[in-house]
Amino acid sequence: MSKPETIKKKEGPATVALPGDFLASPEEFLAGKNTYEQGDAVRASLPGRVEKDLSKREVAVRPVAVARTPTVGDTVLGQVEAAMTSTAGVKIRYLNGVETLASFPGTIFTRSERGGRGERRTMVKLGDVVRAKVASTLNGMNQLSIDEPHLGVVAAMCSVCGAVLVRGDGRAQCEQCGNVEERKFADDFGTANIQP
Ligand SMILES: [Zn+2]
Repeated sequence: MSKPETIKKKEGPATVALPGDFLASPEEFLAGKNTYEQGDAVRASLPGRVEKDLSKREVAVRPVAVARTPTVGDTVLGQVEAAMTSTAGVKIRYLNGVETLASFPGTIFTRSERGGRGERRTMVKLGDVVRAKVASTLNGMNQLSIDEPHLGVVAAMCSVCGAVLVRGDGRAQCEQCGNVEERKFADDFGTANIQP
């Protein structure tokens, strides 16, 4: 598993910081919440998301739960990073509604998720944001299921023009180019308030 970018780039700006990470120089930004000044650096005192307030010239860290390993039954939210014929790779970003600092890989077996009689449909596409349930963690692989009404794609973009898709009649339609797309949508797809 690759390490977070913040570990490699010690002195560069980071959006997610680990304790001790360089955030800014004191000339640029004042040390805000969950940070400390040390010599010519403002550093993070907690793991979390870096927030820079340009008007106050202040850098702060919003704490993020350091994720435990996904376990069977967890609800996850992530983005499809790879979509193959029968599987899709998902980068898990939320675990039971809490943003994870580390991101975990998950796999959806789209072939086994298909409705009966060999029906062919597109379950997920590259770039989709999906809500899924951890079905198995056998051999260290987070196998994800989207086979419930509240699970599936919660946000997607038009594969023709890249605009955000909106909810149509059981399908998703692009308001820009009229393209209609099929997915295994979650029941709250296209609503204003998606909860991870
Ligand atoms: Zn479009």
